[in-house]
Amino acid sequence: MDNKRLIERLMTWQRNDRVHPFTCGNDSSHAILDVFEEDGKVKLFCPDCDYVQNNIPQFMLDEENIFDPLMEYDIMEVLRKNGFK
Ligand SMILES: [Zn+2]
Repeated sequence: MDNKRLIERLMTWQRNDRVHPFTCGNDSSHAILDVFEEDGKVKLFCPDCDYVQNNIPQFMLDEENIFDPLMEYDIMEVLRKNGFK
């Protein structure tokens, strides 16, 4: 996955209210982490302090995840609409 795609996925994740966003390792009450690129590496940083997360979790790197965490719709809603209880 190229950096552009990874940044796109991370930014979508951080703005998706169905998932828990990546947060500051110093203080979880700080603003959610933002994305930047440094020396060809994608990293997350806290806008409120100097916290930087260098390691991007593997599931963000796996394009072929069957259960796509970035999907816009609620899977349970889809199941209910199709008659599942
Ligand atoms: Zn912070």
